[in-house]
Amino acid sequence: MAEVAIIGGGLAGCDAAWQLAQAGISVTLYEMKPEKRSEAHTEDGLAELVCSNSFRATGPAAAIGLLKEEMEALGSLVMEAAFATQVPAGGALAVDRALFSEYITGKIESHENITVVRKEITSLDAEELSGRDAVIIAAGPLAGVDLTESLMQTVGDARLYFYDAIAPIISADSVDYSKAFWGSRWKPEDDDYLNCPMDEDEYKAFVQALLDGEKVKPREFEKEKHFEACLPVEAMAERGEMTLAFGPLKPVGFTDPNTGERPFAIVQLRLENKDRTAFNLVGFQTKLKYPEQKRIFRMIPGLENAEFLRLGSIHRNTYVNAPQALDETLQLRKRPGFYLAGQITGVEGYLESAACGLWLGLSLAHRLNGREVAVPPRETALGALLGHLRTEPDKEFQPSNVNFGLMPGLEKKMKKKLRKEAYGIRAQEVFAAWIGEAGLKG
Ligand SMILES: Cc1cc2nc3c(=O)[nH]c(=O)nc-3n(C[C@H](O)[C@H](O)[C@H](O)COP(=O)(O)OP(=O)(O)OC[C@H]3O[C@@H](n4cnc5c(N)ncnc54)[C@H](O)[C@@H]3O)c2cc1C
Repeated sequence: MAEVAIIGGGLAGCDAAWQLAQAGISVTLYEMKPEKRSEAHTEDGLAELVCSNSFRATGPAAAIGLLKEEMEALGSLVMEAAFATQVPAGGALAVDRALFSEYITGKIESHENITVVRKEITSLDAEELSGRDAVIIAAGPLAGVDLTESLMQTVGDARLYFYDAIAPIISADSVDYSKAFWGSRWKPEDDDYLNCPMDEDEYKAFVQALLDGEKVKPREFEKEKHFEACLPVEAMAERGEMTLAFGPLKPVGFTDPNTGERPFAIVQLRLENKDRTAFNLVGFQTKLKYPEQKRIFRMIPGLENAEFLRLGSIHRNTYVNAPQALDETLQLRKRPGFYLAGQITGVEGYLESAACGLWLGLSLAHRLNGREVAVPPRETALGALLGHLRTEPDKEFQPSNVNFGLMPGLEKKMKKKLRKEAYGIRAQEVFAAWIGEAGLKG
């Protein structure tokens, strides 16, 4: 019987363990709680939800809804537990977090192929890990410090990031192109950036809204940890009314083709993907509450109807630069036999982390049993998420949740609602074909 050690009994670790164990692989799952806890974990059970109790939208018109369907089809324990412990939440899937953790802990602890050891693993060279056929590191965004250091040494230099500074991503076809214009600083012919010009009144009202907007309160452990280079946009606004206009919103080098003049300030949108279907709001990492982000960022001329594919956030996060550190199988290039799963790979979100663990458990189990499973195509939600980890090696690799912007664009232009449906239908068809060809149908 092949043997796999997993470090971390969170969402990714549990779904990976389940897939491996169900395929007849012997799993030892190391979880440091209750002996030691991260700054956010408070309970003793496995698969603890540290913040919200929501797994977000359901249904194929949302990428996260598709991911749920795909995970369920692949036998995800996390999805099974979510449905078993669901609480009413409108169109979203939310759970009773205590029952959810209890359900998963019970299933994992009673599985004949899984041994749970409550112990912190502090190094990739730990004795407990030797002689295994594979080791999975699923220690999450708040992984133990010693393990993090050991991983950092293995990966090499600074390829392990410690702070999330995430700016929102919006859908390209929700921008008003009669107001926004293409061009880089001094280069109006460039089409790498789309620019939203502001006049003085619009700028000042926007800065005031940033100051007044409701923010997420930092937890004790998150204080004073921002790098100067990735300050939240509202923190910059607090430094002075003109700080943003002299910083990320600097208009120098731009002429608004609609007025023939230099705008007072400019918000730049950077292309997020090759298909040009999504933009990142440059410099807009933020701690504003989600509804506030939508309200305030829609004050930007051209973004009045912006559709947000991802909202901004900042919190401590530990993740590798996946395109550089990991190969296609999620194995550390510099340490064969050691794999990463969950948020530490650069996926973002509860279900994304679980999905990553599920995929690693499933694909690794097949490999250990002598068979390869093809990675799901990028038209599917799981394939899009895994594809994000294999983007071109890039210094600015950032975590992402699953969204339609990670999928290949659609050939035809269509209205928002129809477009979402089209992404959903295509994903379902491609997934059904893939799961059939891969011989994974339950
Ligand atoms: C403060 C915070 C709030 C978040 N809120 C949300 C949210 O509301 N919604 C959302 O979708 N996502 C949220 N996330 C992002 C992410 O989805 C969660 O962190 C998610 O739990 C990640 O899953 P995971 O399995 O990768 O890691 P985790 O669920 O964190 O699991 C990792 C496990 O590994 C254990 N561990 C760590 N180091 C070691 C070690 N050295 N030895 C043994 N065990 C170890 C930990 O105790 C933990 O149980 C949040 C993240 C943070 C940091």
